[in-house]
Amino acid sequence: MTDDRIECPHCQHIIPMTDGERLQGHVTYWGQERITSLECPKCEREVFLQEYVKRWWNAGRTAEEAAEL
Ligand SMILES: [Zn+2]
Repeated sequence: MTDDRIECPHCQHIIPMTDGERLQGHVTYWGQERITSLECPKCEREVFLQEYVKRWWNAGRTAEEAAEL
């Protein structure tokens, strides 16, 4: 799945994970050490989540260069 949305495993509804309120309880610094769940807004069934965190760095000679992707 992509970084900022999940697909409901019941009805394939795309649930954006960018809403701060929705993210609450599903985000940790290094990734969840437990499974969380939320209710699909479309089919209202329970969707279980395992969070994975990928972190990367970009190096540059200047701050501006580092900020360029
Ligand atoms: Zn659903």
